[in-house]
Amino acid sequence: MQKPLIAGNWKMNMVINQGVDLVMRLRELIKGIDAVEVVIAPPFTSIHHLSHLVADSPIKLCGQNLFWEKSGAYTGEVSAEMLAAAGCRYVIVGHSERREYFKETDEAVNKKVIAALKGNLKPIICVGETLAEREKGKTLTKVRSQVKKALAGLAGSVVKDITIAYEPIWAIGTGKNATPQEAEEVHNALREHLFEMFGPDAVKDLRIVYGGSVKPDNIDDLMAQPNIDGALVGGASLKADDFARIVKFQHIA
Ligand code: PEP
Repeated sequence: MQKPLIAGNWKMNMVINQGVDLVMRLRELIKGIDAVEVVIAPPFTSIHHLSHLVADSPIKLCGQNLFWEKSGAYTGEVSAEMLAAAGCRYVIVGHSERREYFKETDEAVNKKVIAALKGNLKPIICVGETLAEREKGKTLTKVRSQVKKALAGLAGSVVKDITIAYEPIWAIGTGKNATPQEAEEVHNALREHLFEMFGPDAVKDLRIVYGGSVKPDNIDDLMAQPNIDGALVGGASLKADDFARIVKFQHIA
């Protein structure tokens, strides 16, 4: 099994100096932490600058998005190679905000996942249902379909480099998190689905993390669930104390 993964998605927040302050403080607060993989996803404009600050720390850098082509006339886009050269090891793909505001389809997510892996970046693939889908009992159908399409055409040998982030859309930035039991049910179903798709060897190292209003006061209960392997954190990753407390979750099972 891989270490738990705690990733902070800064979204469109933090100019360079604010990012530097946050990373400096975070470095101090999580010094010596080795049992958890800690990842931050700053805006593109800060990544290279921050790469020097995280070099001798447990923190790894992550892009918030990428385009699937390697280079060319694609104004405004960033490739896997560019992110890796700037210092990223991970990239978020298919975040619900990208699916909603930028109309990213499952097919686009699949192309991005393939491009990330080819470019030596580990994709964190976001899936999740809307409130209406949950109320109609369609949660598992939706997330299974998103995962299947995101991973179409991939060999089992690359699955260990993939993280799935289950992020119920109704829980993102709303303060309403899924209960640990609700999240566990979906994580368990996704793990079974991935097992059916790729077999036991491929999925033994695959992490499924939860995202959606993760805070210092709910992380311990979430991480106590057997199928929750970490968290993707939005708002609380912008506060060094809160994010550090999330990284230092207590396993209270
Ligand atoms: C996210 O955007 O991935 C997220 C989980 O946000 P928040 O923690 O703010 O709900």
